[in-house]
Amino acid sequence: MPLAENLAAVEARIVAACDRVGRRRESVRLLPVSKTHPTSDIAECYGAGVRWFAENKVQELAAKASELADLSELNWSFIGHLQTNKARDVAAHAHEFQALDSLRVAEALDRRLQGLGRGLDVLIEVDTSGEESKFGVAPDAVVDLARALGTYSSLRLTGLMTVAANTSDQAVVGRCFDTMAGLRGRVRDALGGGCDDLSMGMSGDFELAIEHGSTCVRVGSAIFGARSYAEEPLCSPQSVG
Ligand SMILES: *Cc1c(COP(=O)(O)O)cnc(C)c1O
Repeated sequence: MPLAENLAAVEARIVAACDRVGRRRESVRLLPVSKTHPTSDIAECYGAGVRWFAENKVQELAAKASELADLSELNWSFIGHLQTNKARDVAAHAHEFQALDSLRVAEALDRRLQGLGRGLDVLIEVDTSGEESKFGVAPDAVVDLARALGTYSSLRLTGLMTVAANTSDQAVVGRCFDTMAGLRGRVRDALGGGCDDLSMGMSGDFELAIEHGSTCVRVGSAIFGARSYAEEPLCSPQSVG
């Protein structure tokens, strides 16, 4: 499988999107989403220079992290919904958690991280679409959650994440992204700065997301190819291919 070619094609599209709106390429992080794909694919991308990968299932993260423990510069971002009883594995394996959506989860993670002597970068997941299948906190609840996170010393709030509306209507998707930019401003006002990351954009909408200020695009199928598993529509409504 020509993963290096897929990576190069996505890279070119990121560069073009940045150019269209006068942004520097370095202002956008490409986060490959390797969920459902084998560790051989991850190793292949690692060989091509990729150092961060994202997973959305705790068990899959733990299994892949263990299997690939020899790749010393490998970092994992966990982007899936987390239940408190699985906080331990995320605390042990993830370098970043992008789907924080409750104080209960923050508390569970913090406790596990304290035990391990680790810290974790976290992003609050925001439900910008209101669609039934979506996780995340309502836009109105984001500032309060961000403030409350100050209690947990092992968590560092680095930004906000969203999965935009599942529609081909660019105006609707763009509004989800603009909601995020507005929320980041409110969080910064409340906390006196920080919260720089806007993780938004997937295979189907990452160029639009960059044009709306994304600093992290989470790209799965455009790099690794189509996924096939039963809960796919829940986890990745915008998957292409
Ligand atoms: C699967 C997933 C992605 C990547 O989706 P693609 O459409 O394959 O690029 C991005 N973000 C989240 C939260 C996901 O679960």
